[in-house]
Amino acid sequence: MNASASSKNPLTLVIVGGVAGGASAATRARRMDEHARIILYEKDEHASFANCGLPYYIGGEITDRSKLIVAKPELFRDRFNIELHTRHEVTAINRREKTVTVLDRNKGITFTQKYDKLILSPGASPVVPSLRGVESSNVFSLRNLADTDRIFAAVNARSDGHAVVIGAGFIGLEMVEMLHRRGMKVTLVELQKQVLPPLDPEMASRVEQELIRNGVKVHLGAGLAGFETSGGNVSKVILSDETKLDADLVILGIGVKPNVKLAQEAGLALGRTGGIVVNEYLQTSDPDIYAAGDAVEYRHGVSGLQQRIPLAGPANRAGRLAGQHAVCGQSRPMAPVLGTAIVRVFETTAALTGLTQKTADPAHSRAIWVTTNHHAGYYPGAKPLNLKLIYDTRDSRVLGAQAVGAQGVDKRMDVIATAIQLKATVYDLTELDLAYAPPFGSAKDPIHMAAFAACNDLDGLMTTVRPDVDFENMQVVDVRTAKEFAELSFPGTINIPVDELRQRIGELDPKKETIVTCASGVRSYVAARILEQHGFSTVLELTGGASVRSHTGQPVKRGKEEVPPPCRA
Ligand code: FAD
Repeated sequence: MNASASSKNPLTLVIVGGVAGGASAATRARRMDEHARIILYEKDEHASFANCGLPYYIGGEITDRSKLIVAKPELFRDRFNIELHTRHEVTAINRREKTVTVLDRNKGITFTQKYDKLILSPGASPVVPSLRGVESSNVFSLRNLADTDRIFAAVNARSDGHAVVIGAGFIGLEMVEMLHRRGMKVTLVELQKQVLPPLDPEMASRVEQELIRNGVKVHLGAGLAGFETSGGNVSKVILSDETKLDADLVILGIGVKPNVKLAQEAGLALGRTGGIVVNEYLQTSDPDIYAAGDAVEYRHGVSGLQQRIPLAGPANRAGRLAGQHAVCGQSRPMAPVLGTAIVRVFETTAALTGLTQKTADPAHSRAIWVTTNHHAGYYPGAKPLNLKLIYDTRDSRVLGAQAVGAQGVDKRMDVIATAIQLKATVYDLTELDLAYAPPFGSAKDPIHMAAFAACNDLDGLMTTVRPDVDFENMQVVDVRTAKEFAELSFPGTINIPVDELRQRIGELDPKKETIVTCASGVRSYVAARILEQHGFSTVLELTGGASVRSHTGQPVKRGKEEVPPPCRA
């Protein structure tokens, strides 16, 4: 593939924003066109820094700050011959003249720069509510290195103090762990009734438990309503339910809004979720202007809807394609994006890809839950992994997945994300030939187990019911051992261990609608097959078993005592 302009008539490519999308665009453009003039404007102090690493520097896991700069200015200059200008803000685009107006913050002067092609990757800005006190010096958002340095200094000053993190999304959760690691007493506040709102509530509930297990106070279902200040600092955070929380430091992690002012003022089209509209080659409504990253809308890989997906992977891929297309006039199209994301919260990892049950069409989708070990149970160190698979009941296509566990979450999510991208069905998942030896997995991987269960459901071998189904008026048989049942059970269930079921089948009424449940859905499937073949009229399997139901908010019994459910969702 050749660059569109020759060495005699080099093209001028101007890029706005020098981090994920912008830096990827610039370096790819250079690799594709040795002669183009490539100018990269970054309004802040640093370009090409690792946004995703910032929480880990604050928490002390990354100790060398210089490692956060992925590509140093010399690298842009010497290896890539890219003109990087930091502290240069592009303030306007003149599409007719094909120029940008640039404010040089070093010199305090404004100038114009001509472009042949322009790429916008200005990212997104943290949402900051307009509340009195929000401008206090101990209230922070985290987006760049300057924010990081400020938070780092504040934690150093009050590492035994109280931190309040508002927003239980990915960055909020990372900050909770890192502030806790630095010794702060951390309270997490989330407006929704679950942490990690992108996940379904029963999956997110495990993350909530992990936070509580580590001494984090979790306050759900209430939003930030205001601050009490003293001496220019916030001293208390006030929530919508009137709770007041002590605060030496406040982190706002309540989402981001796309930086679209430049694009909007230049008359470029914006989409339904407020991001810049781009085609599959990242061209905006002006074909000489490209856009990538958090400011744009991508096509979702399952729903097909245009939406903002503010993640580093899509930003880097889109920037790279835009950089190539801008100088060559051709590239592969940007593939739809699945929103695959992952977060570590202490010793638990949670991840998702594609649609959730919240976002999938309930009329044409179903979900299956499995709880299995992340590697062979007999090999030391096996840890339970909860996997939820969502599939289309019409064509058996995999629509999405979520996983929570101590280990092995990332590889399951990446395999399923790949399968979704290749439009796999749950039948395809049963056939995946995955690497296996006992320290790494099981001959029947958790992905296979989930897919088997989904296929059994679609093939009519087993009808499943949701883990939060109402047990009222149902005959519910729990086929776990008596010991397991004594530790945790659900009101209204009969305990007949699966190995005793054939002998004790007379204790059950075959004419009644019967739900079978166990710990995770493996034994209940065997039990359900036994009951069906002994003439029970309607046998339903509780998908996910006790391990999922106990996170759905349904009543739970420990011993003889009924206890409040752990999940308030
Ligand atoms: P950015 O990387 O933010 O770059 C935009 C740049 O443009 C900024 O430096 C900005 O100063 C500059 N700019 C804006 N306007 C102008 C202008 N007018 N003139 C000049 N310059 C301008 N994603 C993941 O997938 N995984 C993670 O683990 C993860 N962790 C994260 C942790 C944190 C703390 C943060 C903040 C983000 C994280 N993300 C993560 C998200 C990811 O960093 C972003 O999706 C990605 O950086 C977006 O790339 P971008 O190029 O659109 O924007």
